[in-house]
Amino acid sequence: HKTSDDSYDYLFKVVLIGDVGVGKSNLLSRFTRNEFSLETKPSVGVEFETRFIELEGKTIKVQVWDSAGSYRRTMQRRLHRLSLGVLLVYDVTKSGSFEAAKQWLKEFRENEEAAKSDMVIMLVGNKLDLMHLREVTAEEAQAFCEREGIFFIETSALDSTNVGEAFQQMLTRIYNTPA
Ligand code: GDP
Repeated sequence: HKTSDDSYDYLFKVVLIGDVGVGKSNLLSRFTRNEFSLETKPSVGVEFETRFIELEGKTIKVQVWDSAGSYRRTMQRRLHRLSLGVLLVYDVTKSGSFEAAKQWLKEFRENEEAAKSDMVIMLVGNKLDLMHLREVTAEEAQAFCEREGIFFIETSALDSTNVGEAFQQMLTRIYNTPA
């Protein structure tokens, strides 16, 4: 990562959270490099990648963290403190991954430190291209998000649907969160 010659107005950190296999690392690579991979590479610990974006005339350096693997719990706890936004990812073809996302939010709300933070949380239903295998409807996910007061979007890292939009909406919301 270059440090000396990059200039930016803001640094935003966003973390991807969700069950193994929901598509976190592919959402990350689609957003930062416009790449997709059919293989699941075993993620070790936590990795991040950086991309610069322009938002309302400002240059934003975006660090996207992919939390994965066995370090999940402890690393996620640390990341929560560093992050401004959470993309809470599930797989629209796996209701279990949706339940896991709900459980994560429940635990997040029960954590005093986390609950006080003004972190922006967006639920992301990924693998929208596998419509014929869908187990979680957009309506039920949307209703859940309305009850919980979090944002919702469906994406496909495979065909790129809404991936840029998900990040753009997240970053705009972080930008508009009062300091
Ligand atoms: P992670 O464990 O959450 O990081 O998931 P990965 O990004 O490694 O993806 C797990 C598997 O799902 C891989 O085989 C990917 O190719 C596949 N995958 C990821 N995103 C999509 C998507 O939007 N559509 C489809 N059809 N497959 C996807």
